[in-house]
Amino acid sequence: MEVSGNLKDIQEKIGQACENSGRNPEDITVIGVTKYVTIERTKEAIESGVKNLGENRNEGFLEKYNYFGEQVKWHFIGTMQSRKVKDVIDKIDVLHSLDRISLAKEINKRSTAPVDCFVQVNVSGEESKHGMEPEDVLPFIENLEMYQHIRVVGLMTMAPHIDDPERIRIVFRNLAELRDQIKKKQWSHAPCEYLSMGMSNDYEIAIEEGATHIRIGSKLVGS
Ligand SMILES: *Cc1c(COP(=O)(O)O)cnc(C)c1O
Repeated sequence: MEVSGNLKDIQEKIGQACENSGRNPEDITVIGVTKYVTIERTKEAIESGVKNLGENRNEGFLEKYNYFGEQVKWHFIGTMQSRKVKDVIDKIDVLHSLDRISLAKEINKRSTAPVDCFVQVNVSGEESKHGMEPEDVLPFIENLEMYQHIRVVGLMTMAPHIDDPERIRIVFRNLAELRDQIKKKQWSHAPCEYLSMGMSNDYEIAIEEGATHIRIGSKLVGS
């Protein structure tokens, strides 16, 4: 399938999900996750109009960044190892996986400008999922005030791999509630406006529950 056709299909479904929930499709950012695919396929995605790309490993990110440079916005969506922060932190636009103080400290030390970060939350409680426990998120973000290069723009989660859409929905809803609690604090280092949630199999539910950033790989560029 051509990326342009996939994108058109996804945009139609985004439109429908927005209609179901009284939202504006302009408020949804589609991040094309290119971690599975080649430079060639990534090029096709950019030419189809994808303006935000997501990678989950330093090697894959650097390969594509070195090729495409700053013609797109770069989202780092995978677990970030502290010792590798220095190689990528000034090149990425948004980090979706801030999940510990030691990482915040390293980013603060290595970056030359404030970095937009999503705090990753393990809402579903699955062992295999990365991210912080929901009850730790508020005090964690409050503590980030001392790191001048960290700006918390929102929360991120991954739903569990299950078929029951209503259980997936609860995960997204819980993340949105947590975001609301933090946003209400009006911390200047943590506007926390956004929700990064929804992937190929669950982005419509995520949009209905308030997602502002959806991360789509297999259904957009293939796997
Ligand atoms: C791979 C990945 C995605 C995209 O997954 P698809 O199901 O292929 O859309 C989204 N988010 C994260 C964090 C990922 O690692």
